[in-house]
Order: sequence, then structure tokens, then C-alpha cells
Amino acid sequence: MIEEVQPSLFRMQIPLPNSPLKFLNSYVIRSPDRNLIIDTGLNRKECLDAMQYGLRQLDIDLAKTDFFITHLHADHFGLLSKLVTGTSQVFFNRPETELIEASGWWERMIAHAAKNGFPEDELREAIKSHPGREFGSEWIPEISILQDGDEILVGSYCFKCVSTPGHSLGHTCLYEADKKILVAGDHILIDITPNIQCWSDDQNPLQNYLANLEKVNDMEIDLVLPGHRRLITDHKTRIAELKGHHERRLKEVLSILGDDPRTAFQVASRMTWDLDCDSWEEFPRAQKWFATGEAIAHLRYLQRKGFIVRNDEERMTVFTLKEASQPAAKVIY
Ligand SMILES: [Zn+2]
Repeated sequence: MIEEVQPSLFRMQIPLPNSPLKFLNSYVIRSPDRNLIIDTGLNRKECLDAMQYGLRQLDIDLAKTDFFITHLHADHFGLLSKLVTGTSQVFFNRPETELIEASGWWERMIAHAAKNGFPEDELREAIKSHPGREFGSEWIPEISILQDGDEILVGSYCFKCVSTPGHSLGHTCLYEADKKILVAGDHILIDITPNIQCWSDDQNPLQNYLANLEKVNDMEIDLVLPGHRRLITDHKTRIAELKGHHERRLKEVLSILGDDPRTAFQVASRMTWDLDCDSWEEFPRAQKWFATGEAIAHLRYLQRKGFIVRNDEERMTVFTLKEASQPAAKVIY
């Protein structure tokens, strides 16, 4: 489906087969000078076909087109290498450029997952079916790094970068102040909640995410263009819902910990998930990976706030409640 959501600004729905996200919203701004495509889809045939069909309908010449990618996940970045031309500029954030240019980050994530209790045999399978492994970009085009506050001018639009780490390390939204439009990537979604994962000891992504919800909450916005699902017109209500979701999640994690030390994987297996599966055992392995990453993010947040204690035992990291924690009575943030 192609829809002109604002003058010369189009939304193309790029299908994401077998994903609960259903489709990616790719936004195209057409201008007589250069066009801009924001986010692309997975590096797979179904996405490329939909993208090429859409670009033909809109009469977009890729030789006159630049790209902005909100974050490194394969459903946004993956198809990029199939679309860039010798004249394309690719705008992207610094933290994730450094991440994809560094070697060994998959290995570091795998080691982190094992330490957090992910069984080794399942881990290999989970990684094999991870969309980032299966449908990521084959090569990394030359990148023009943009930072918070930098601008992209295209047609009658002046987009300002708004750095919003949380869903990913360098996630960046685009804000059009005159038109009060926020291109939100996966920072704010409706009907589904953005997945907040943590795969490193020195990060606290949920803390960043919640702070960056506040940052966006205070902005004047009439229309949010999200990376998936429906457009959002009332961002403050949705942000309040997302904050409520994480508050409930944090309380759930505290009550799961109870008196017993548990790994993040064990915590994830007891959390409630909005997936069409009867039991944790039936979860697709890639979804177990995302769930465990989400459990780690919530445990990290609670640990830094002083609600729980982390113990690094010989091969496993386990978490326990701090003495006298009264989860239900606490205001977590
Ligand atoms: Zn996404």
C-alpha cells in the first residue's frame, strides 16, 4: 500500500513475512532535486519487490535518492545495500556505525546471552534464525554520520535529528518543526510495544528509553510516522501507555525474582508475552532471544536503581531481590 500522508511524503508498507510486526513503514519524500527514503525493509525478495513496485508507482529515480536509516535493525537497514547507487548519501548515527564496523559484536552478544542462562544448544539455533543474521545488509555503504540536532533538507521539509537511544544504541528520529511531524522509527509504536533489549554489561537501555520518551513527550507533534503499524496522532497518550507498560513489566520482574536467585533466561521464561504460544517451550527460538534481551534490560534497570542484586557466579549471572524489597509498594520510576 502506498499513501501520501503529507504533501510529497509517502508511506510504503513493506511486508515482513513471518514477523509479528507485519510490515515496515518506509517513508519516501519526493522532490525535484533529491529524494529521501527513510528506512528500507529486510534484505529479502518480498521486501525488494514491494520497494521496487512502490518506487515505480512514485516515479522515484534511485540515482537521485538519499537514505536516512533510523537504526541498525535488519527490518530498517537490511535492504539498503540493494538500493544505494554511486550518488546516494546514506545518513546514519555514529554509535551504530561504529558497532557495525567493529568485528565480533555477534560473538559478544552470544557470550552475553550464554552468561545470562540461554542454553547453549538453543542459542546456536536462535542466532541462526535471528533476522539480523538471515536478512541483514550484505555490505555497508559509505555512511554520512549525523548527530543530534543535525538537519536534512529535502523538498519543503527540514528534518532535524533527534537522538533517541533505547530501542537500539543509536536510534535517531527526525523532527519537522514547522509541520509538527516526528518520524519515529521504533521509538514510539502503537498496538505493539518497542522491544527494549540489553546485550552488554555497560549499558542501561531501558533507562535511556524512558528518558527519551520524556524528551519526545515534550515536543510539539501533530503526527507521528512510526516504523511499523498505524500512524499516531496523540503521542502523549501513547507515551503514557508505553511508560505504564514498562512500570508493570518492572514490577512483574521483581515478583518473578521472589526469594530465589534466577538468570535472565529463567526470568524471561516466566514473564507474560503477547505471543500466540501455549508455553515458553513452544516459543520460536528467535523470540526467546528477544525475550531474554528484554528481561536483561529490565533486570539491569532494577539493579542500577538498587532494587535487586546481581551475582556473577562462575559461569552464570544471577539476580536476587535486595532484602526487604516490597515490589508492589515501590514506585519504580
Ligand atoms: Zn523495526
